[in-house]
Amino acid sequence: MIAFLNGDYRPLESVCISPLDRGFLFGDGVYEVIPSYRGVLFEADAHLERLRRSLAAVRIADPLEGAAWRAMLERLLSLNPGGDRAIYLQVTRGVAAREHAFPETAAATVFAMVNPIRSPEPELAERGVAAITLPDQRWGRCDIKAVTLLPNVLARQQAAEQGAVEAILLRNGQVTEGAASNVFVVRDGRVQTPPLNDAILPGITRRVLIDVLRDTARACVEQPIGEDQLRAADEIWLTSSTKELLPVTRLDGRAVGDGCPGPVWREALAAYQSAKPAGRSA
Ligand code: PLP
Repeated sequence: MIAFLNGDYRPLESVCISPLDRGFLFGDGVYEVIPSYRGVLFEADAHLERLRRSLAAVRIADPLEGAAWRAMLERLLSLNPGGDRAIYLQVTRGVAAREHAFPETAAATVFAMVNPIRSPEPELAERGVAAITLPDQRWGRCDIKAVTLLPNVLARQQAAEQGAVEAILLRNGQVTEGAASNVFVVRDGRVQTPPLNDAILPGITRRVLIDVLRDTARACVEQPIGEDQLRAADEIWLTSSTKELLPVTRLDGRAVGDGCPGPVWREALAAYQSAKPAGRSA
């Protein structure tokens, strides 16, 4: 696999990053995961816009000019031809002597690699997945896509140890999001997701889904979801660029609705698939 590091394209195995990189020492960096289907990037502009927003929020100067980001992503894809891919892209504050405050002179480290998208197994999507709930122990700026993911890692590990694929996080009695996904619920046919604020990542999949649902009879309401609403939901979905739209059929060991992926999920998935490049060209 060919990866990108600071202007060079080279085999991933030969990419070396200094132990003094602030991404390694402090988790001082931001990232994106951008899907591509059959070689066509999906929502790249939205991902790059969110990257710029994250960089600005943590005060790392944007290391590449507008069109250069896109050109790098396209080149990386062409060097890694094949099926559906997710580009992982990370920008850190660069290499400097270890000191918490920003270094005066350090060039940002820009790294990108390509991974196959592991679409959920059809049976998994048909059966649904299990999730657990956990207290949201993250910081106050979860709207920034920062590489500092320790609470997310611990939450996801706890979920895995309990046979679940995701931890749905609760803060002050309300759903924020999953450890690496946004959350939607359906009750009496009404679709709802928490509104954007600094407690959740503005997911691109979330936004695409809200947009496509607007054109159907299932327009989504952006409103806080209380813990009791989560537990009483007929359907729960998780969204992310690599998971797409996954139905949760067990929450904390109990069935969600009738324990099967629901009819509104099927409608929503069809609408989402039609927005993807593969859907458009199919
Ligand atoms: N929330 C968190 C914490 C995430 O890490 C992710 C993606 O990894 C998402 C939400 C979903 O975002 P997107 O749809 O842009 O992939």
